[in-house]
Amino acid sequence: MSKIYFLDVTNRDGVQTAKLGLSKLEKTLMNIYLNEIGVFQSEFGFPTTKHESNYLKANLELAEMGVLKPIRLGGWLRAIIADIETAFKLVPNIRHLNLSISTSNQMIQSKFQGRKSRDDIINDMTQAVDAAWAHGAESVGVNAEDASRTDLDYLVKFGKAAKEHGANRLRYCDTLGYDNPFTIYETVRALAENVALPIELHCHGDLGMAVATSLAGAKGAIDGGQDAYINTTVNGIGERAGNADLVATILAVTKSKGFAEKYQLGGSIDLLKAWKIAKFASYAFNVPIPINQPGVGANAFAHECGIHADGVLKDPENYELYGFEELGRGEPELVETGREISTGEYSGISGFRHIMGQIAVSFSSKEEAQEVLELVRYANVEAHKPLVEDELLFIAKYPAIAKKLLALNPLD
Ligand SMILES: [Zn+2]
Repeated sequence: MSKIYFLDVTNRDGVQTAKLGLSKLEKTLMNIYLNEIGVFQSEFGFPTTKHESNYLKANLELAEMGVLKPIRLGGWLRAIIADIETAFKLVPNIRHLNLSISTSNQMIQSKFQGRKSRDDIINDMTQAVDAAWAHGAESVGVNAEDASRTDLDYLVKFGKAAKEHGANRLRYCDTLGYDNPFTIYETVRALAENVALPIELHCHGDLGMAVATSLAGAKGAIDGGQDAYINTTVNGIGERAGNADLVATILAVTKSKGFAEKYQLGGSIDLLKAWKIAKFASYAFNVPIPINQPGVGANAFAHECGIHADGVLKDPENYELYGFEELGRGEPELVETGREISTGEYSGISGFRHIMGQIAVSFSSKEEAQEVLELVRYANVEAHKPLVEDELLFIAKYPAIAKKLLALNPLD
């Protein structure tokens, strides 16, 4: 039986969202949390973008060290040879890639403006896949951008060509959130049956259905005999109305009526990490979690109305589908209400040692403390907000990696 995996794209689709971004340290912490929650692959960034190079290389190093394991780190590229060459020049150790190209007539005609035919698109894609293998890629996914506005016959032809050139997965991009659960099911099932490749579901929320279409698409892939890789972002942060929210999608797959009896997860998901990752994304993107967000919203387990409060007190299952403890919620959170010392780009050694002492980090020498403080200052220059405990712990634990992450050399 085919299975469902999660391929999170917060560090790619999430950070390309208008008005939002993550520092390289935040992206790294995000990869660590995604690994903890059990995501199969993190689309961790853009290997052709120069300011990403140090971050990408440092995270691949963390993978080698076993810190980011078993999660896979995959880069996003355009499906053209030039991008493959640049990627392997800037990030030689990158091994997992997704290569993207538009497949709809809308995009071919209005984005490429007649410069490319449908055959050119397939040609570019297969040449890019060949180049990726030649440069040492270990896995390649091929993305059909705007797949939901592409006719099925061409999508099948595109997918088959990708398969012939050894691609491991076909990403079905509902780029504009145009599909509904019924249409995506039919299309993805036909793709799975005719192309015979595992299918990625990349769904957007322009019509408020990203989680629903992801679920229906996954069902289509599995009914068609193929594994499904659902693309998610933490808190649904992504282009325009966003992507399928990671936690909501996990809940939908595992808790919705009868679904988990037939459609199972490939890896093991640790839902207990849901609260932590959602809170971190909210802090890092500086976007509050909506009060009614599934699982992690402030009201997800709140009851006020008499009948509901009475019912839930008698038995939570009267009005709750799942327990807050399952998502790692319920621990009290300490908020400083008196004097506060925080870190910043101009912090000094005494305040810094005080903060690190509070989180039980001590230094063997003044020099060591000074070195870590210097890195924390640099991290603050990029983040523009006090670092959270896990970020400080990360820098103290992996100063050499932090140094690489934080190195931006625009003139090189
Ligand atoms: Zn997207």
